[in-house]
Amino acid sequence: MDTTFDGMPDGRLYLAGDWRVGTGAEITSVFPADGSVNRVLKGASRADGEEAIARAKTAQADPVWLGLKPHERARYLYAIADGIEANINRISQIQTRDTGKTLRETAALAASAAGTFRYFGAVVETMDEDLTVQRGTALTMSVHEPLGIVAAITPWNSPIASDAQKVAPALAAGNAVILKPASWSPLTALELARIVDEAGLPKGLFSVLPGSGREIGNLLVEHPDIARVSFTGGTTTGRALARQAADKLMPVSLELGGKSPTIVFEDADQDQALAGILFGIFSSSGQSCIAGSRLFVQKGIYDSFVPRLVEATKRLKVGHPFDADTQVAPLIHMDHREDVAAHVTCAVKDGATLLCGGHAPEGEAFAKGSYYLPTILADVKNTDRICREEVFGPVLVVMPFEDEADVIAQSNDNDYGLACGIWTRDFPKAWRIGRAIRSGTIWHNTYKQFSISTPFGGEADSGVGREKGRQGLRAYMAQKSFYTDLTGQMHPWAAATVEGL
Ligand code: NAP
Repeated sequence: MDTTFDGMPDGRLYLAGDWRVGTGAEITSVFPADGSVNRVLKGASRADGEEAIARAKTAQADPVWLGLKPHERARYLYAIADGIEANINRISQIQTRDTGKTLRETAALAASAAGTFRYFGAVVETMDEDLTVQRGTALTMSVHEPLGIVAAITPWNSPIASDAQKVAPALAAGNAVILKPASWSPLTALELARIVDEAGLPKGLFSVLPGSGREIGNLLVEHPDIARVSFTGGTTTGRALARQAADKLMPVSLELGGKSPTIVFEDADQDQALAGILFGIFSSSGQSCIAGSRLFVQKGIYDSFVPRLVEATKRLKVGHPFDADTQVAPLIHMDHREDVAAHVTCAVKDGATLLCGGHAPEGEAFAKGSYYLPTILADVKNTDRICREEVFGPVLVVMPFEDEADVIAQSNDNDYGLACGIWTRDFPKAWRIGRAIRSGTIWHNTYKQFSISTPFGGEADSGVGREKGRQGLRAYMAQKSFYTDLTGQMHPWAAATVEGL
């Protein structure tokens, strides 16, 4: 266990290229494994936010940035990717202390963030503009331009990865970006700012402003100079933000919550399914928007499959995030653990049977951390609160199903539509089910796999818009149609009127 790391960001904000002590309310970053304080910092105030926006506006319009060709902008993205790669261990240490995630997971998230910057550098320098099919006397083109200033608002569960998913395409598209990280995990984004700064991005184009969602988040949504908000977070916050955005007719992308179904058919490879289900719900301690939190097991195998699942769950290694063999680390915060525990208590009151977990682990090693045991609940109905509400913790509900029609109906009977796992050896069946389920992503015989080249996003209460993929760049651009005359002739409508004047 490494307790010697002393490279935590000092807590100053990154305001338009300057390191500054914020003038807003205090924010405390706590190490969830033992409650020790990583850093107390002053967050951004409204005035800090307004200054960052004004300076971003100037920097974005400067020909030094606006005049760059796509391949020239791409160089900055590659430099940021190199900087992240060179600092993976450092980022991983910071993020683990900021969030309680295992070092193994945070190193993987940092590596994926580097990949995201590299990918969008490559996309912007290879994405063609369109010469559209000519139907009249003009040459017609469709081209894309930066929007201006983009605000990225991110949650605490995977900071460096979700930050990169927004910052990389937004910068690649030629915008300025203001990033507001979640108050429970402010430090990882400040480390990203250090790397962006070292990559030499012109001053003013990037700010990282930790601060309260109500104050700085609201300012970013309402301000007339913010052209787009890219938001990842809870559905309630996302819905409120979309209402505000509607007032100024601003486009928003919303990556929100989930209550994703995982389906195990009788013909599945059961060991493969077991391992995938455990990973799908209990990795990241269940604090994952795409967590497979509603499990449907076909009736014929329910009585044999569920006890094996419970046994395997009890074997998961709950432990310190620095330990290499830890599978389930602490939750982000004591308040969040209380919230998760309250969901379980309510479910049991509503009639659910607790098959395992349902409380914090015992022992000295866990006493000060916000740990919670992997938990499975049975004897629930798909309409119960515990099957409808996102818990965002290591809590799985299991239910039997009869056949394809039954599981499609039950899976779709939910407000969310983010992800779905299907375990079967029968591909045509997986195809039928996958196409019938309302969900942004389907995983067949796998779960929680991601690729930056494959679009990601939700349906219904899980959000609006898609991130990643080549088209992910276009979300941060304004499309413009350009017509240029090829005839050199006067328009016939007024030619006679003009002739002889
Ligand atoms: P949250 O409470 O909605 O907060 C998300 C971000 O919004 C934070 O930076 C927060 O700042 C800010 N915020 C809060 N109120 C705001 C307001 N009025 N205006 C503007 N910004 C505001 O979500 P969370 O608890 O951090 O994250 C967990 C949620 O994120 C879960 O529901 C999870 O499913 C979802 N999530 C979705 C995805 C996806 O891709 N679909 C990925 C990861 C997480 P403060 O921290 O200062 O309050």
